[in-house]
Amino acid sequence: MLDKVLIANRGEIALRILRACKELGIRTVAVHSQADRELMHVRLADEAVCIGPASSAQSYLNIPALISAAEVTDSSAIHPGYGFLSENADFAEQVERSGFTFIGPRAETIRLMGDKVSAIEAMKEAGVPTVPGSDGPLGDDEGEILATARRIGYPVIIKAAAGGGGRGMRVVHTEGHLLSAVTVTRTEAHSAFGDGTVYMEKFLEKPRHVEVQVLADGQGNAIHLFDRDCSLQRRHQKVIEEAPAPALDPDARAQVLKACTDACLKIGYRGAGTFEFLYEDGQFFFIEMNTRVQVEHPVTEMVTGVDIVREQLRIASGLPLSVRQEDIELNGHAFECRINAEDARTFMPSPGKVTLYHPPGGLGVRMDSHVYTGYSVPPHYDSLIGKLITWGDDRETALTRMRIALDELLVEGIKTNTDLHKDLVRDGYFQQGGVNIHYLEKKLGL
Ligand code: ADP
Repeated sequence: MLDKVLIANRGEIALRILRACKELGIRTVAVHSQADRELMHVRLADEAVCIGPASSAQSYLNIPALISAAEVTDSSAIHPGYGFLSENADFAEQVERSGFTFIGPRAETIRLMGDKVSAIEAMKEAGVPTVPGSDGPLGDDEGEILATARRIGYPVIIKAAAGGGGRGMRVVHTEGHLLSAVTVTRTEAHSAFGDGTVYMEKFLEKPRHVEVQVLADGQGNAIHLFDRDCSLQRRHQKVIEEAPAPALDPDARAQVLKACTDACLKIGYRGAGTFEFLYEDGQFFFIEMNTRVQVEHPVTEMVTGVDIVREQLRIASGLPLSVRQEDIELNGHAFECRINAEDARTFMPSPGKVTLYHPPGGLGVRMDSHVYTGYSVPPHYDSLIGKLITWGDDRETALTRMRIALDELLVEGIKTNTDLHKDLVRDGYFQQGGVNIHYLEKKLGL
């Protein structure tokens, strides 16, 4: 087992990783910016190192500072969490080259999946269903671009190969707008990601976002932990997630779950990962793979009983998966509400001092949060201050518990989006299950 893990992240996920390390008897090193001295996991870790000023670029994204911190603390491995450097292949490479274990896939896998064109190519070869599209990057020949769009059929979406975070995409409804859209997306992709490669996909009009959680040990074992539905999104940011995804076509689902584990074996995947799909009319279409632990991993943990971060740590220690596919059974249903420090109506961030924090509790209620009364939410980072997760024997019970838990959650001194969640968990369409990715924005009148 790994001896000492440096947690290269902050907030709730840093605390989540710390808890898993403690359970396994692994010592922990917290790294933090000057603005984050008061973080809960900094207090609880065996050691803490300040790695730079508040700005992420100078702290949580500062590779030399992170590697130096691992050296001075004699850490054996680095857990990147999500966001920040978690999907940065250069970081993974430098960590390994410096003699530490990177808790995640091999750098070359991160690179393969980080470029959406190569990721789609690899998935297609592995038998994972993809969106009808340009089969590779778009070239310069205008006639060919027009012909590709005609073959796919409008509307189409032009996407940056290096895109992420919902940026670098443009929907085109008519031929007259196609060529200029390609040019603009290319230029934007070049300045935003340093890579102007773009490709084309059929634009699906009313899809759901359904994703598959996988674990692979890089030793010939790969399993799936079923699916999650994350369709409730605003500006491509997930707001509420649930597991399992409700009302999927059973055959299509069984096929896609198997295709994902097959793909893991085929590409020699190692660690936890997520295959993201758009799901429309009973069909799955792969859009991208995330090569890290995801914010919404707890809903899967609640319905499978598998501790995903613990598995990540075991895999990085060179151990095989602790569970087999036939051991995994779906048990009940779980929801997660992302609690953000922001105005529930305007979505403006609301940093500041939390004067009262009272987390909900009770059977089937889990609160993953680093917040405590007296803690000040700094203005420098994303606004996620906690994840409220509820579980029940069935969807309705989990949702009822969420309604009660949201009413119990008290965060004073700053604004939170709790009222938005209270509204959503009482929404008739959401209660039925299976809303599409545009539902929330439509409801909000955006
Ligand atoms: P990112 O890496 O920026 O998150 P994705 O490829 O995962 O990019 O796409 C983000 C979101 O954009 C999807 O969740 C979906 O809402 C929308 N999207 C992407 N591709 C398509 C498509 N072919 N049809 C419809 N919507 C799409």
